[in-house]
Amino acid sequence: MILRNENGLSFVQFESLAHYPIHQGIFGRKGGVSPSPWDSLNLGGLSGDTRENIIENRKRIFSCFNLPVESIFDVWQVHGNRIICTESNRPLDKEHEKADAIFTDRPGITLFMRFADCVPLFFYDPKNNVIGIAHAGRIGTLNRIAADCIASMEKTYGSLPGDIVVGIGPSIGPDHYEVKEDVASDAEACFGETEGILLQASDGKIFLNLWEANRRILLEAGVRNIELAEICTACHTDTWFSHRAENGKTGRFGALLALNGNH
Ligand SMILES: [Zn+2]
Repeated sequence: MILRNENGLSFVQFESLAHYPIHQGIFGRKGGVSPSPWDSLNLGGLSGDTRENIIENRKRIFSCFNLPVESIFDVWQVHGNRIICTESNRPLDKEHEKADAIFTDRPGITLFMRFADCVPLFFYDPKNNVIGIAHAGRIGTLNRIAADCIASMEKTYGSLPGDIVVGIGPSIGPDHYEVKEDVASDAEACFGETEGILLQASDGKIFLNLWEANRRILLEAGVRNIELAEICTACHTDTWFSHRAENGKTGRFGALLALNGNH
């Protein structure tokens, strides 16, 4: 990952996407206006923070790339598998559609999602100039939303999996993601072979590696170029929001991806 600072905000970028004509950033929690426990760059509309704070925080993020806020396309993330391939922005006075992955091939649209432990997946097909972001929490991961995204890119844009670059962003790491037997069973049902995906500690506790799970799914779908951030949100609550490490009393950080139409 590349760490950048602009206008008092800090964000990370995938190195494997850095030389392409796109704007990308996954923003840490610093540099915003929200008070504790959402301090301070909170984008989560249902977190309890005020609408005014979130609008100001969003403005600050978009200004890092000189992108108009009106170019936004974002959704109400519901841990489902619905994917939207959009050709237009979401007018700011229009309600959010429910979905957990968003794609576009149109410059002038800024894809935007919110996270706090769930896995951000960034997709880019340089041949067809297609971008996408997916929200892969535990449910989305085990329902293979990553594979659905690749299938959707093939169908909608003619993408070839071998051309697609995917970044797996900051999210809860295997060291912090303890799960119960029921989730372990779901992972076994999803993968069969769970080596590297389910980890058992010497005291019997089971941990789920969402990063490796998504990587495995993407490899099976034919993706070859996968970059893993290896940044655990729960390890670094000074920099990231973590739903689990902060017992649900926290904000959501923003992830932005847009084609650079001026390139
Ligand atoms: Zn951790």
